[in-house]
Amino acid sequence: MEHNPQDLSQMNPASLSATPLAILSSDGSDEQRKLAEQELQQLDQTIRLQANLIELAHDAIIVRNPASRIVSWNKGSETLYGWAAHEILGQVTHTLLDTRFPQSRHWEGELIHTCRDGRQVIVESRQVLVRDEQGRPKAILEINRDITERRLRDAKVQVLSETTRQMDEFLGIASHELRAPLTAIKGNLQLAKRQLNRMLKQDEITKEEVAGTITTIQGLLDRAERQATVQNRLVNDLIDISRIHAGRLELQVEPCDLTGIVREVVEDQRDTSPTRTILFESPTMELPVQADIDRVGQVVNNYLSNALKYSEETHPVEVHIELEGSVVRVSVRDEGPGLPPGEQERIWDRFYRAEGVEMKSGSGVGLGLGLHICRTIIEQHGGQVGVESKEGVGSTFWFTLPLAQPRGS
Ligand code: ADP
Repeated sequence: MEHNPQDLSQMNPASLSATPLAILSSDGSDEQRKLAEQELQQLDQTIRLQANLIELAHDAIIVRNPASRIVSWNKGSETLYGWAAHEILGQVTHTLLDTRFPQSRHWEGELIHTCRDGRQVIVESRQVLVRDEQGRPKAILEINRDITERRLRDAKVQVLSETTRQMDEFLGIASHELRAPLTAIKGNLQLAKRQLNRMLKQDEITKEEVAGTITTIQGLLDRAERQATVQNRLVNDLIDISRIHAGRLELQVEPCDLTGIVREVVEDQRDTSPTRTILFESPTMELPVQADIDRVGQVVNNYLSNALKYSEETHPVEVHIELEGSVVRVSVRDEGPGLPPGEQERIWDRFYRAEGVEMKSGSGVGLGLGLHICRTIIEQHGGQVGVESKEGVGSTFWFTLPLAQPRGS
């Protein structure tokens, strides 16, 4: 059976199977001819039935000739891709559908196709090379099932289970982190109370003994206070994160000097970590910005606390502030473990804590919320955040804020 290009639309996939048409042309008796006609009628019925089935199928069933041109295109193909058969017969499928896969003869797998309206669909494709009786390639039968919905559902389920896993992990860490300072506070208060009771029970007590006990109690209360500060920070982070999630992190923006904000945080950290070296060369000039003083201070404090807690006691941490065109840039450099490139993006995500980065000093593991909060605060100010880091060398966390326009300009 020959097909010229005009006849392509008439070609039926079922006709690709070998047919006994040769019988008709052969000389023979009437009986033989009748038999052949009957056989042909039956075959015709089968072909029609198969053609109807192909039309009914939801799958896109496409038949291509060996030159990859479309010779048959069923209703399923029309529904999936949007072109009617008469519009595209004779076209090359891969050009029409912008198929993305390395072309091969016997193939089964997933493809991404671009439909007429530009929509992308994912199809499960089965492609078979059909040969004629002589074994020559005659056509390629392509059956495409639309699995876009299924794949989207799979992706959603995956995201959901990843979020649930992160949430479970977070709850475990959060409850542990909140309980640890509480246990320490309770322990220190009990010890202080015991010291006090012992002193009160003593009939005779010298002034020196009273002074000694008071010093001990002061030490215990200091420790309890430090733990309360840790817990306060954790609770504040949790409150901030829920505000961010609800889109309700409000800023009290006012004209201020960024140098002053950074200097104050550095001085506070030097007080709380007297054993650490924090290098900071304060610029002599003011760097005016429009900012929420407490929130920007919180960002500097977070960068600095991280730099201190993830690097060795003996290693210094450097803070810089400089003018870069129309923005002011603050950076905190440490000689800690550094981060591989893949982690440098992810650490800004909510709950994310880089693998293999361990705390070297300070208390509390952290909830993986700080940097996410920092990024939100800075971006809400119209600034940017980032990190430059090299594994085994250290990290520089930075942020920028737009320099405020001088008044009257
Ligand atoms: P955390 O409370 O866990 O410190 P952050 O959001 O502040 O949460 O930081 C997220 C993660 O980024 C940390 O768990 C740590 O793995 C990594 N990280 C943050 N700062 C540094 C740093 N200076 N050096 C190396 N890794 C860091």
